Parts: sequence; structure tokens; C-alpha cells
Amino acid sequence: MTEIFDRNLDDEVFDAIDAEVLRQQESTELIASENFVSLAVLKAQGSVMTNKYAEGYPGKRYYGGCVNVDRVEELARERLKALFHVRFVNVQPYSGSAANMAAIRSLLSPGDRIMGMSVNGGGHLTHGYSLSFSGKDYESLSYDVDRETYRLDYDAILRQAQQFKPKLIICGASAYSREIDFKKFKEIADSVGAYLMADIAHIAGLVATGYHNSPIDVCDVVTSTTHKTLRGPRGGIIMTNDEELSKKIDKNVFPGIQGGPLEHVIAAKAVAFKEDLTPEYKDYIGQVVKNAKRMSEEFSAMGYDVITGGTDNHLFMLDVLKSKNITGMKAQKVLEAVNITANRNSIPFDTQKPYITSGIRIGTPAMTTRGFQEKEFVQIAHYIDEAIRNQDDARALDAIREKVVSLNRAFPLPYRKVG
Ligand SMILES: *Cc1c(COP(=O)(O)O)cnc(C)c1O
Repeated sequence: MTEIFDRNLDDEVFDAIDAEVLRQQESTELIASENFVSLAVLKAQGSVMTNKYAEGYPGKRYYGGCVNVDRVEELARERLKALFHVRFVNVQPYSGSAANMAAIRSLLSPGDRIMGMSVNGGGHLTHGYSLSFSGKDYESLSYDVDRETYRLDYDAILRQAQQFKPKLIICGASAYSREIDFKKFKEIADSVGAYLMADIAHIAGLVATGYHNSPIDVCDVVTSTTHKTLRGPRGGIIMTNDEELSKKIDKNVFPGIQGGPLEHVIAAKAVAFKEDLTPEYKDYIGQVVKNAKRMSEEFSAMGYDVITGGTDNHLFMLDVLKSKNITGMKAQKVLEAVNITANRNSIPFDTQKPYITSGIRIGTPAMTTRGFQEKEFVQIAHYIDEAIRNQDDARALDAIREKVVSLNRAFPLPYRKVG
């Protein structure tokens, strides 16, 4: 497994990389925002494209020698347009957060009003959180989920928008397990004269394959990461059908907030988008969704409080404090002890501090890439429950870890030796 990474190159760094390969191989990865890229994506990102400066855009660069990076960036753009059926794209954002910053700056001036989902409710920091640029540079008000159902309450959001009169509404989330109705958001935005931005960082793969409704023809601008369900390298993208807006976006990415684009990452994005256009990828996303549904049902059957009662997408959240009297912090530690990686997560109206939390967020994209189906996810749900019930018994945890490791070994990472 580890032979594709050569320790002799730099023994200190490659020792850590080697150990990371082993950790990934022997752990069950349930962090909803992670995935395992293909060997082709890994090789493109690790290529000589990293050596090239290419400020500007294909055909309009500020440096010589851009013929090959131009080809790669054009491929990334054309494939991305085909994937989401969209007219204008920017593939240069270094991350999802940078994509959001550039997109927001294309629509607003400092001090303008912005409305996004609260972080506790499942929104992202870049949607107006007080410590983020989005809450510092703009006047921000967050909307929340409903207190009873923990689902988006579009009537309540409309009333808030009518009072606050934001210039931009952001929809999209990092920890929300239900389908988002972009058309309802559009009605709300239109009724108060606001722009509408969708951040599909998590659900992009579902949108691209038809497992979630698409915001492309609905919202003014759509942003995403490329490393979550899209299964590409770490990075961001911005999409729109509005030509005037697309020009502003390009200027706000470069020179607005970024310098030279990461052409090696853009090469890897192009490779990932090609993979995302295949029927196999669509089947993969279908399995991701089935696995999440099945696993969440198993948790319900074992007496866990699944937030909103289930899931429509690739993730769900458990209120472990309410159901099993363990904090998110402790549950995360216990799971790590048995080689199951998940993250603690605030649940709506959480009574615990953000560093502690009452919840655990679980996602199926990564292990579905490894080949897990419903059967394996059900098995892991039982290991999680066993670990929580035996949280203070080191020997019991050791025994569970052995079982988790042997299951993971049967589903190897998608890498082979590089020639
Ligand atoms: C992950 C995520 C981002 C940020 O992506 P980074 O690449 O970590 O900056 C933005 N928005 C949402 C909704 C996300 O889930």
C-alpha cells in the first residue's frame, strides 16, 4: 500500500505521509466533508504544474510559457460547465472559503446586509459568522432551522428577510441532512430584492447527478468545494449563468483576492470533473445516498436521536448527548480509539459549547468510495454503538478496534503502485 510514497525522498516528511496512508487505510472515515481521490487526481495534483506561475486566465496570462496550463484550465472549465449545465465558471478559487469570499465581493459592498444559515443550524462560517470576513465586512443576520422539526422553515426565513432587508441571501449548509428547496429561497430573495447565492460545497455531487435539485438556473451564483462529494482535490469553484456577473467574479478572484492560480490543483480538478461525468460516478452517488439512509435508520432502531429523523443526502447527525448521555467531544474520542473517524458537531440550539457539542456528524461519501455498501455501514453503526456503551473499558475498545481494522483492510484505498 505504502510503496507509492517513497520514504527516501525526505524521511521526516515522508515518514508522516507513510503513517497517514496507513491511518487512512485502517480507519473508517465518516467525516462527511472528506473523500478518497482517485490515483489520477492524486498524480495530477502531484505534477509539475505546481512549478508554473499563471496569473490571469487562459489566453490572457501575465506570464509566458502558459500553453499547457491554459489547456488544462480550459479542460477544467469545459468539463465543469458540462457537469452542472452552466454557462460561466471560475475554477481558480484556492478553497471553498475563497470561492465564497470572491462571490460575495462580486455582489456586495462592505457594510451591505447578508443573511445566511446559522452555524449551529448547519450553516458555514463564511455565511455571515461573526468571526469570519463574512460577518466582519458585512452586516449579518442568520436564519435558523425550526425549533421543533430542525428543518428549514421558509415562512420564518421570509419574515426575517422582510424585516432585515438583506442585499444577499446565502443558502447551503455543512451539516443539514434534508433537501434544500432553492426555488423557495428564490421566491424569498425576489420578494425582498436580494441576490441569492447557493453554496453547494457538501451536496455538489448529488446536484451534479440529479440526486438533489439544482440551484444553477435558480440562484444568481453558485459556489462549491471540489474535495467533498465531488471527490476532487481540495479547492473551490464559482458558477453562474449571468455573463456580467461572471466578469465581476473573475476580477474578484484574480486580482481581487488571489494571485497565481494553483494549476496543479486545477489539473486535478479537471481530472475529477471527467470522472464525475461518468455513469459510474452517478451510481456511486446513488450508493452514497442509500448508505446514509440505511445507516441512519439503524441508529434510530438502536435508540439514537437522529436530527430531523433521518436524511435525504449523504450525511446525518446524532444527538448523542440526548440519546446516550455522552458529549460530542467524548464520543469523537471514543470513536477515534476504535479507528472510526467522525467529527463532533453542534446540533440546532445546542446547549453545549461549540468546542464540546451534543452531536456527532456522520457522512458516507468516503467509505462508499472504498466500496462499503449498506451491510458494512450497518456493521459500523453497531461498532459505534458498542464503543459508546463501552466507552470507559479499554479492553473492550481494543477488541472493537481490531474488528474495525480488519473490515477496513478488506476495502483498500484506491491507489496502486505508481510506475
Ligand atoms: C466545506 C465548506 C466550505 C469551505 O470549504 P473550505 O475549502 O474548507 O474553505 C464552504 N461552505 C460550505 C457549506 C462547506 O461545507
